[in-house]
Amino acid sequence: MSKKYYLPEDKLPKNWYNILADLPVPLPAVLHPGTKQPIGPGDLEPLFPMDLILQEVSTERYIEIPQPVREAYNIYRPSPLIRATHLERALGTPAKIYYKYEGVSPTGSHKPNSAIPQAYYNKIAGIKKLTTETGAGQWGSSLAFAGAMFGMDVDVFMVRVSYEQKPYRKAMIETFGGRVTPSPSNRTNSGRKILMEDPDTPGSLGIAISEAVEVAATNADTKYCLGSVLNHVLMHQTIVGNEALLQFEDAGDYPDVIIACTGGGSNFAGFTFPFIGEQLRGGKKVRVVAVEPAACPSLTKGRYAYDFGDTVQLTPLMKMHTLGSSFIPPAIHSGGLRYHGMAPLVSHLKELNLIEARAEQQTDCFAAGVTFSRTEGIIPAPESTHAIKAAIDEALICKETGESKVIAFNLSGNGYFDMQSYMNYFAGAIQDLEYSDDDVRKALEEVPVV
Ligand SMILES: *Cc1c(COP(=O)(O)O)cnc(C)c1O
Repeated sequence: MSKKYYLPEDKLPKNWYNILADLPVPLPAVLHPGTKQPIGPGDLEPLFPMDLILQEVSTERYIEIPQPVREAYNIYRPSPLIRATHLERALGTPAKIYYKYEGVSPTGSHKPNSAIPQAYYNKIAGIKKLTTETGAGQWGSSLAFAGAMFGMDVDVFMVRVSYEQKPYRKAMIETFGGRVTPSPSNRTNSGRKILMEDPDTPGSLGIAISEAVEVAATNADTKYCLGSVLNHVLMHQTIVGNEALLQFEDAGDYPDVIIACTGGGSNFAGFTFPFIGEQLRGGKKVRVVAVEPAACPSLTKGRYAYDFGDTVQLTPLMKMHTLGSSFIPPAIHSGGLRYHGMAPLVSHLKELNLIEARAEQQTDCFAAGVTFSRTEGIIPAPESTHAIKAAIDEALICKETGESKVIAFNLSGNGYFDMQSYMNYFAGAIQDLEYSDDDVRKALEEVPVV
């Protein structure tokens, strides 16, 4: 009896979903860092091709996925929606647990869902080279893969601590044809400035973004790609939730609660926005839970304010939950969740009380990941274990109350390149870090006044 739901080729979603069309309150404008006035499409042209800029500000509900992008998606999509019957049995819960498994992609996570269209739109705009940052290496390897699909050069600035901890991710980027530089580096003004202040810095996503943006802004044939946070990235990821809606139809179920981990917010948005959209248009209500690491708690402890997306303060100002753009998150094992800010769209939904947020400790998440491995047979990415932890907690509440709720989470990736983290966990070498109110105050000192 199969508990796996795919979709036939003729039923695959042909559109992305744009939640900007259904927001009850419009999203606050993005501001120019100098004038503090709303920016226009032209301001973003040094960094992005016009198709992506127009997607960033579009209020069309559905945007068609171009045929070449759908063909590249077909290498690994649809991803399965799987009923976690073995986990349910092990927990002894009356709840039904489903997960959408994005680990089937060429790089093992959801990230190619946006890397592919970003490479495609740059390609048709005549761009030859893409720069980007990567934290754990997931985004860098995904963009390198997408670059290989469309014949583009990909130049990746990799956060130094990950470059050292994750040599296989670096090798993967190179296998797909990309170039990797540990960040901060001597290749950019931004990198040299940081290295002068702190030669031993572990680096951060904020710094790597500064370097990648600088290279794109100073080379005419080069544009920049971001792996999360921006509206168009979140929209590309909605292929995940659009498939899940159809797969739940097949399963004859609908979730009561949907859960995903949040770093910059893209896999969370991709999985949940199509369900939130149904609700906003008068459809079924659903509880939506974002789960972040206690060591980098932007949604639960950050301030909702205008802030820079990078450390050297080159980017426009976005209104988001932030820990301050100079905040360098501790080197926790969920590298993909180490970002000082949260996507403006996700932050906005939190302010509107359309989503909940919670923070979890690393060791609790690894424990949940191990339980999941031993029942469902997939070793999850450390990032994804945050969603699993929350799903298990929800299922255990159902065990107490006797409710048979439908719980669904996004398994954003597998952990086969993260086995060192699991080894550290089993060796008892993983620490729980609490982010104190004092840390919050300090980190927020530099948030600009708007
Ligand atoms: C990058 C990554 C994340 C976090 O990024 P979001 O933009 O918040 O989705 C989560 N899970 C995995 C497996 C990742 O690679």
